[in-house]
Amino acid sequence: MYGEVGWRDLKYDMDLRLLRFAGRLFSGGVPGDRWVMRVMAEGVEDIKKGKRVTPWWKRLNQKIVFYGLDAHITKGSDWRQHVDSKIAMKAHGEWRDSMIKKGGEVKKTMRYYCIKDKPYYEWYLREDWEKKREVFRIRTGQAMLNNIKARWAGSVGELCVLCRKERETEEHIVLECPLLNKERKHMLKGLRAIIGPRKWGEFLGMALREKMAWVLRLDGEIARMGRKELWVEVFRWVGKMLYARDRAEERRK
Ligand SMILES: [Zn+2]
Repeated sequence: MYGEVGWRDLKYDMDLRLLRFAGRLFSGGVPGDRWVMRVMAEGVEDIKKGKRVTPWWKRLNQKIVFYGLDAHITKGSDWRQHVDSKIAMKAHGEWRDSMIKKGGEVKKTMRYYCIKDKPYYEWYLREDWEKKREVFRIRTGQAMLNNIKARWAGSVGELCVLCRKERETEEHIVLECPLLNKERKHMLKGLRAIIGPRKWGEFLGMALREKMAWVLRLDGEIARMGRKELWVEVFRWVGKMLYARDRAEERRK
């Protein structure tokens, strides 16, 4: 449910299941029964009194407090919505914090590309095309390019495996390397068709990193734009570039 950043958020997923289940269990029976309040009040009392409380009950109680859930909700569908949004908020906050440095400055590494308005499930992960894994890697800052590899493997230089002239960064592979011009032409054609001529002019004037965010559809504004089938095209070509890069690396080994 949290899309690309969701892999590491299993605990949120488990909490979601627990709280939804509890909602179904309690809210269906007695109308107007404020079960959440009861779980909180009685649960806390029972624990204080040292009564035998099952771990499940205990956990439920803790989660209600942890997420600051509203004890007045009784309707099942309202509860479900409430739980979903509260958990998403918590997960989003934590994720956002992890992206931001102490001084409030956004990290200037490749993780820049992970920063989206909101961590939502990405439709393209459902698409069945061969290179989506590559796009996923680059969007989540997992693309293993030489600028990163060189940091921990001394034998690996920072230069691009294809042209051997420039530092190998995401921007270089996707937007610059002359050996990928053919693939890039297709990708930019697709992008232009999506954003239209006016935005295209803006795009051309952008700094590399901004352009990259656009191509990867991480810009808040583009994210709201539709034209899914064209995005599939764009991502396909980004994937092909990364794929070509990896093949070149394999050939060199
Ligand atoms: Zn290159």
